[in-house]
Amino acid sequence: MLKYAMRYYSTRNRNENVNFAAAALTGLAPDGGLFVPEEIPSYPEAVRSSLGTMDFRDIAFETIKPYVRDEIPDGALADIVQSAYTFTAPLVPAADRFALELFHGPTAAFKDFGARFMARAFSYLRRGEARPLRILVATSGDTGGAVADGFFDIPGIFVTVLYPKGRVTPLQERQIAGLGGNISALAVEGSFDDCQRLVKAALADDGLKKKTALSSANSINISRLIPQAVYYAAAAGRAFAGRTDPDGDATPRVKNLSTETAMRPGQPVTLCVPSGNFGNLTAGLYAMKMGAPVNQFIAATNVNKTVPDFLESGDYKARLSQATISNAMDVGAPSNFERMAAHFSWEEMRRLILGVSVTDDETRETIVRVHEQAGYILDPHSAVGWKGVDKLRAENKIAEGPAGVLCTAHPAKFSETVEPLVGAPPVPASLARAMERTVNARTIPADIAVLIDVLHNISM
Ligand SMILES: *Cc1c(COP(=O)(O)O)cnc(C)c1O
Repeated sequence: MLKYAMRYYSTRNRNENVNFAAAALTGLAPDGGLFVPEEIPSYPEAVRSSLGTMDFRDIAFETIKPYVRDEIPDGALADIVQSAYTFTAPLVPAADRFALELFHGPTAAFKDFGARFMARAFSYLRRGEARPLRILVATSGDTGGAVADGFFDIPGIFVTVLYPKGRVTPLQERQIAGLGGNISALAVEGSFDDCQRLVKAALADDGLKKKTALSSANSINISRLIPQAVYYAAAAGRAFAGRTDPDGDATPRVKNLSTETAMRPGQPVTLCVPSGNFGNLTAGLYAMKMGAPVNQFIAATNVNKTVPDFLESGDYKARLSQATISNAMDVGAPSNFERMAAHFSWEEMRRLILGVSVTDDETRETIVRVHEQAGYILDPHSAVGWKGVDKLRAENKIAEGPAGVLCTAHPAKFSETVEPLVGAPPVPASLARAMERTVNARTIPADIAVLIDVLHNISM
């Protein structure tokens, strides 16, 4: 057993390294790079061979432990995962494959897994700190809700979410701006890019830094990424053991099916990941390297296919993003690609990952067809993943064995798209509660001086 703390180095400079606490609390490395662990640890054999039967929280504990060793003691880590994961990630059979349902958390998208761990880890790592911490987040919709919910009521930490006014859904706006307490929301008269620019400028402002500790909580934070490896290990272990989970609450399954066609016990699973910024897929690669029985990954994107094109050609060309109906994946320059490239060469990536891209028409057609044939309602992001498997299967590119699709959001979260196609999906209780909240956001122009003034006046 290694006794020293894990070191994290910047993707842009291998010589500068910090511990988990510094990597998590600063977010981005000072040179603009992303923090990556110096090594991806392996599960002890006793854990690896029991992934199929272990409790989800025990898998969370075992997966995260080596990354925080010597910094978060076992007892504290156990408390963190117990309190973060009051929900799990059921692996349910849906026709000829598995659906890995990542939407049973409070905001009904997979980002809850990362955000809830991050919030509790921050709280532990800052124990004894008298100075409050202010966290600034820019969001195009999903991240803001998950971070707000994750940090709600965490003592000593105050979150301000900036979102583009009028460009998030009514549900997302309530998730971001309906909590109150230690969460405040600013509706920016501008785009998501304006929000990001404002957050960057505020994080560098000396006056604000003098007053409080400042941090950000965007998806490149390593403390959001590592906990996402947990559900890959749990799902791969279950699939390998030939086990599935009972349907979770408000499952979007509209009929019961025989489970046999999905099952191939004893064979590692191929997992398809609907991808945008590629944090989720990177976490999957970590789980696989740790020893989870994954055969291969599929990176499914919408028309923003920078990474599938790279896998094909070896040439990385970032581009401007195009708007689609799977908008949480509208990313032309995925930030986590830098992390993938720090761990794997192009040849290795090609061996581990198949790329595929899916259009909006194909996405809609898939939602309709899967509802009819499999009795399962997909959200637009999960539908991109489902269709990705179909396309690669038609080309005989997927290895033998079971296949699973990561269902990254509940269809009720994107009912504007889903309902006209297949009718209203069941609504999880957490979303119904969120819809009843009142939006309490302050509107500001996309102006840094105004933002700084407003931040000075938010009480902490
Ligand atoms: C954020 C998000 C994605 C994309 O995940 P990445 O980690 O950025 O690749 C996919 N689906 C949904 C519903 C999301 O919220």
